[in-house]
Amino acid sequence: MKTAFVDGRVFIGDGRVLEHATVLVEEDKIVSIRETDSGLDQDTRTIPIKGAVLFPGFIDCHVHLVMDASPDPMKSVAGESLALTTLKSVRHAEKTLSAGVTTVRDLGGKEGIDLVLKQAIASGLIKGPRVLASGRPICMTGGHGWPMGREADGPDDVRRAAREQIKAGADIIKLMATGGVLTPSVEPGCAQLTYEEMKAGIEVAHRAGKKTATHAMGSQGIMDALRAGIDSIEHGIYLTDEIISFMIENKVFFIPTIAALHHIEKMGVAGGIPAWAVKKSAVVAPHHRASIQKAHQAGVAIAMGTDAGTPFNYHGKNLMEIPLLVRHGLSPLEALMAATGIASKVLGMENQIGTIEQGKMADLVLVRQNPLDDIDILNESDAIVRVMKSGKFMEDES
Ligand SMILES: [Zn+2]
Repeated sequence: MKTAFVDGRVFIGDGRVLEHATVLVEEDKIVSIRETDSGLDQDTRTIPIKGAVLFPGFIDCHVHLVMDASPDPMKSVAGESLALTTLKSVRHAEKTLSAGVTTVRDLGGKEGIDLVLKQAIASGLIKGPRVLASGRPICMTGGHGWPMGREADGPDDVRRAAREQIKAGADIIKLMATGGVLTPSVEPGCAQLTYEEMKAGIEVAHRAGKKTATHAMGSQGIMDALRAGIDSIEHGIYLTDEIISFMIENKVFFIPTIAALHHIEKMGVAGGIPAWAVKKSAVVAPHHRASIQKAHQAGVAIAMGTDAGTPFNYHGKNLMEIPLLVRHGLSPLEALMAATGIASKVLGMENQIGTIEQGKMADLVLVRQNPLDDIDILNESDAIVRVMKSGKFMEDES
């Protein structure tokens, strides 16, 4: 079956925007991008682009499909049955795909749900985005995320913990370098796993050809993770000049996950979020805003990640991170590339997804209006018109 998106504006994902292009899909791949719609076979299904814009499937580099965006999601996930968490996760995956997000990186699951979800989606059993999953995040005893993490102390134990995740099918290793907002009794600014511990975990991952990511808020934890060889910094609240130069020099990606703090600040204690989390969020938020602006101005590669699943940060509302990136200094083009071409590099999948190019996976999303003219269109619930993943429209998937 061939499908052609005909005669319209196409956002390639590498900085180029074509005005009257036709994109031809065969099976699960993009086979051509041309300036004319003539020469299409009779049996090709045609989808006029008209006033919409065709985008590469969006990529969210940081989600938690097991977390339900309730006011205290870590508590919910720790307290509820595995069966309920699994059912919720299925729904979260479906909502994510319908929002035009065709690939996610899940950075913290529970009891292997994220890993099973990945397989269930890949086999066509349930609808959802392509998932790269970390399994359980690795943290120190009592460290950030421990209710769903694999607690590990000392380089040997972290090495073993990383090997366990890879054995279970993880695509990526997540290490907790610092405290965070949503775990009680830890401080975002405090370092947690040590340089030696993270180095051991990162070595295991890299030997297995896997990338690494770190929850890293305080400067010391960030720097320890960077020196240990981490591939991406998540959140990055307290970025110093030294950190920023290191990231640029070593091509380490920054995934600020602005939505996470945004919703905590907005909904607060009145929304039912625990007071200790709201308090920590209020302390770190101004530093976060300054760090994002500084990193962007210096030229750090910023990619889109939402931390979806954290309080009021709903699965399926992922694209609201893009207008938030614009509010923090990125141009609309930069923010949209952060969610497409650049995000694919974070995942190490730049040869398969992230841009509309011949030979790549046919992950294609029609956006109703041009977000380059008005980025806030992405906040609207009807912004996404059609979603194709691997050559199949979401509604046609069995
Ligand atoms: Zn997270």
